[in-house]
Amino acid sequence: MPAQPFTYPVAAGWIRSLASEPAPYEPWPVVRWDEKLLEDQIRFLDAQAELGVIYNRVFGLFVGRDWPAPFDPKTVIDAQREELLLRFMDAAHQRGIKILAGTGIYSWGFETIIRNCPEVRSAGSNKQAMCFYQPGSWDWQRRILDYVMDPKWGADGISMQSADQGRCGCDRCQNTPRPVYHAQLLIRCAQYIRQQRPDWVIGQASWGLNMDDPNDLPHFQRIAEAVDYMIEVPDRSARTEPPTRKKLISSLNCAVGSVGGVFVSPAQHWDRLRYFLPHGLRTAQALKDLYDDGGRASEYHYRLFANPGDEVSWRTGAKILSQPDTSPEAALRLALAKVYSVTGSTLAQLADWYTRSEDAYFTRAAFSVGDGELNLEPLVWQDNPSMPGPPIYLRDRLTPEARADYAKELGKLKKEFTDLAIPDPELRRRTLAGVDGTLADIAALA
Ligand SMILES: [Zn+2]
Repeated sequence: MPAQPFTYPVAAGWIRSLASEPAPYEPWPVVRWDEKLLEDQIRFLDAQAELGVIYNRVFGLFVGRDWPAPFDPKTVIDAQREELLLRFMDAAHQRGIKILAGTGIYSWGFETIIRNCPEVRSAGSNKQAMCFYQPGSWDWQRRILDYVMDPKWGADGISMQSADQGRCGCDRCQNTPRPVYHAQLLIRCAQYIRQQRPDWVIGQASWGLNMDDPNDLPHFQRIAEAVDYMIEVPDRSARTEPPTRKKLISSLNCAVGSVGGVFVSPAQHWDRLRYFLPHGLRTAQALKDLYDDGGRASEYHYRLFANPGDEVSWRTGAKILSQPDTSPEAALRLALAKVYSVTGSTLAQLADWYTRSEDAYFTRAAFSVGDGELNLEPLVWQDNPSMPGPPIYLRDRLTPEARADYAKELGKLKKEFTDLAIPDPELRRRTLAGVDGTLADIAALA
């Protein structure tokens, strides 16, 4: 009998993290929505439907860092955004995909509210996180939840994040142990949502809150009772000595998961063909390991399908979510056959080429699967957040010697690729452009 699919396979990202057009001169995260983005989203939904990834969690459906204050539900988004949003929801539902609204809990989205509304602040409070102990904070959080839960948007659930931007710095908040603090925030919100929308899926991702200390388990167990799935970020419990993830998962009364193997964070500012970094085999293996540990959820992050290496890698991992007993190698071949329209010996050669291209980076780089995101450029670049950032995946994770050696290997791989019988000239061009982009960045670092 084939293995049961993941219960919560969730494609996930900020709204533009799948955009074919970069936003080179705006600080991250840009949440601009236009026809071109909707087209990219629909292409992504098609791949999800094909691969059985039946949830999609979007951050930035309505706003980026700032819910407005004062808050008028009629003017939070304009008519054009509302129309795009409704068309997106409709396209998802037509394909059997449910949309979860990525939502910050007491942080993410509250910067203007914190600035304008003293009733959510305390002495020493954080610019990005409301104070838990100010009664005005819950009023604001509830207002946002009510807005997101409005049936007119058509969302099917929510995924909550409370810890990514730290928490209020007042003495009372700081004196509350972190897991206790976040458990009370998340449980209060989950219970409120459940009451209003019993039909909704409720997820939670632990960005900023480690889950691997066994002493904290009772707090995570309480969260698990209130939600449908929990995502551990990064996969720390799988990396302790000895690993404790299996025990963690079996102790929590909800589906548990990860962000899905090698999470190459989409580079908002960059040209989509500036890099070629296949990572599907390692991602697929990580998802299989998660499944073997009892994991049945993943917020499996978007990739940029305008970059063929990214699309192949995303598809390779996605296959595991619906058919966990697929081997990574078989998943890679299926992805390549689909993206490059190749069969037979060309497919075998291309699979071998992709395998060696993936190994070429990961056998040389200081990166361990499950140890957080792999950023191509910095997500938020302090020097100048409105400009494309430097290629830190090459600069910081490879020694100069390893970089030179990697460039040599890529040069060889490039030559081999030109000998492959890839039928689609545009895909040939885009693949080679990515390899050239990486080589140019390495050359500039030398
Ligand atoms: Zn506080």
